[in-house]
Amino acid sequence: MKTAVAVIGAGPAGLTLANLIQQSGIPCVVLEKASRREVETRPRAGVLEHRSVELLARHGLADRLLASADRHGACEFRVNGRAFRVAYSDLYGGRTHYVYPQQEVVTDLIAAFLEGGGDIRFSVSDVSLQGLASVAPRVVWTSADGVREQVSCDFVAGCDGFHGVSRPSIPSGVLQELVHHHGIGWLSILAEAPPSTKAIIYSMHPDGFAGHMLRSPTVSRYYLQVDPSESVENWPDDRVWMELQKRLSLADGSWKLTTGKIIEKRMLDMRSHVVEPMSYGRLYLLGDAAHIITPVGAKGMNLAMNDAALLSVALSDYYQTGDESGLKTYSDDCLRRVWRAQEFSQWMIGMIHAPTNDPFHARLAAARLEHLASSPAYAASFAENYVGP
Ligand SMILES: Cc1cc2nc3c(=O)[nH]c(=O)nc-3n(C[C@H](O)[C@H](O)[C@H](O)COP(=O)(O)OP(=O)(O)OC[C@H]3O[C@@H](n4cnc5c(N)ncnc54)[C@H](O)[C@@H]3O)c2cc1C
Repeated sequence: MKTAVAVIGAGPAGLTLANLIQQSGIPCVVLEKASRREVETRPRAGVLEHRSVELLARHGLADRLLASADRHGACEFRVNGRAFRVAYSDLYGGRTHYVYPQQEVVTDLIAAFLEGGGDIRFSVSDVSLQGLASVAPRVVWTSADGVREQVSCDFVAGCDGFHGVSRPSIPSGVLQELVHHHGIGWLSILAEAPPSTKAIIYSMHPDGFAGHMLRSPTVSRYYLQVDPSESVENWPDDRVWMELQKRLSLADGSWKLTTGKIIEKRMLDMRSHVVEPMSYGRLYLLGDAAHIITPVGAKGMNLAMNDAALLSVALSDYYQTGDESGLKTYSDDCLRRVWRAQEFSQWMIGMIHAPTNDPFHARLAAARLEHLASSPAYAASFAENYVGP
């Protein structure tokens, strides 16, 4: 079997890339470790930037999203029970976020790719990337039926997330890994509970940060700052709801949290991880395979799509005119946006987590929040970064 591009992983990065290059007439095959059902039901991110939606819409991939996603242009900060809103859409050219769960994005992209005649192999195992430094790499895998199969290709797109096989296939010493542990844990909760708010809430409380994120009219995501060494077992459902109500509440007692059935509870160790460069030979890394960002600022899925957009243009140029310049600058082009997002996420982490054992940084966080609440110029800069430049 021969193809132009072997895409490893059917997450937002791999499926966006596969659709875009398919539309440019570039043959590809997508190899995915999980079953179709698993990838179409795996809840993770839920916030798309204006730019990501524009990209999908330009390629006819956003019909269902545009028909059903909620658009958000304001968020709320609560500081010790007092609230202020930042209408970021008004502050940044009317741009909004689109709240649309990641599994719906993935479902739409799979449907579009298959409708266009695309080839996705689900439930593959033992994927191995070979000859990456040559002009004819090979990918070998075991199919869902247990048959060992392979494809020769011109390029491999490593879109298999942080724990995938692509990045570790690069010889040691090639990549520089830039890693930062923020020393903060978030307990991430997904519940079948209608939102108790119209806008995302970031709440600062003496016991730690709490967040109320939006996903759909019937499902909400919440975050609780906890010690990174905490275990999920210490957080039975009753304790979760009590803590959320306490940390998110308003001083006048006017706000009430609607509870529901908790369907996912997990610990997130807040960390940032970037590799440079995002390529090796004929292998290009995209999305979480190359960079992990904390959920603060909701950038992960959007960065993955941006990588896919850049690589698809570079590949189209290569196949249409032989121009390799886009492939050569791919890594630098992606990393500019990645580092801007990392910087914003870091800034926001510093603002919404006031360390109780570090009064200096706690005062800085308070000053940052006060500045955001009182200065339209500062809020406009937040808006630009938050909704996406
Ligand atoms: C709880 C949580 C909340 C989040 N919230 C947000 C948010 O609000 N906004 C936001 O923008 N981002 C958010 N993110 C981050 C976002 O989900 C990721 O950044 C995004 O999924 C990255 O897409 P990707 O395609 O690079 O990787 P993935 O989505 O991880 O996809 C990788 C795919 O590769 C497959 N795979 C792995 N190994 C192999 C292999 N060896 N062979 C073949 N296939 C393989 C996997 O099964 C998977 O389908 C959140 C993440 C989490 C965990």
